[in-house]
Amino acid sequence: MGSALVIDVGPLLAAGRPISLDEAVELPPFGSYTFPHPARVRLELRRVERGLQIDGRLEVDVAGACDRCLEDVTAPLEVEIDERFDPPSGSSDPFAENNVLNGTSLDVSDLARQLADSALPYGLTCSASCRGLCARCGQSKNAGGGCTCPLPMTEGDHGEPQVENSPLEDA
Ligand SMILES: [Zn+2]
Ligand SMILES: [Zn+2]
Repeated sequence: MGSALVIDVGPLLAAGRPISLDEAVELPPFGSYTFPHPARVRLELRRVERGLQIDGRLEVDVAGACDRCLEDVTAPLEVEIDERFDPPSGSSDPFAENNVLNGTSLDVSDLARQLADSALPYGLTCSASCRGLCARCGQSKNAGGGCTCPLPMTEGDHGEPQVENSPLEDA
């Protein structure tokens, strides 16, 4: 991937002067998802007590296949950022729980990647009304999707006669 965006928060933690960022961050593919454009990441970094508070917003487009019809779908993803990193104290090392903050180096690229990946939907659909793939011809049943099969006459059309209220059942 491109160069990682890493900033030094040492001066912020030492002097308490807030940092504002507005950056384009490339995100690597995650599972079946890709990010066709760099994410826009806006951050406000503040010192809170001895820790680091990060507020902001991440906006990126997610691309993947529709769960139902497999068409390419691109959907906007927005993530509100509200992260707090506290400095090491005593025997525990809270900074070690994440790998975005290494000493006073904040890996904004990795932070953006983790936030985007954790906010991904379980699946994409091209639209709420997507009709998916035809079980017979395998083509999309959406308008212009290629399926030209006639609509089934009955629900559960398996080519067998429908048996309703068979008198034999009552015998
Ligand atoms: Zn679809
Ligand atoms: Zn069909």
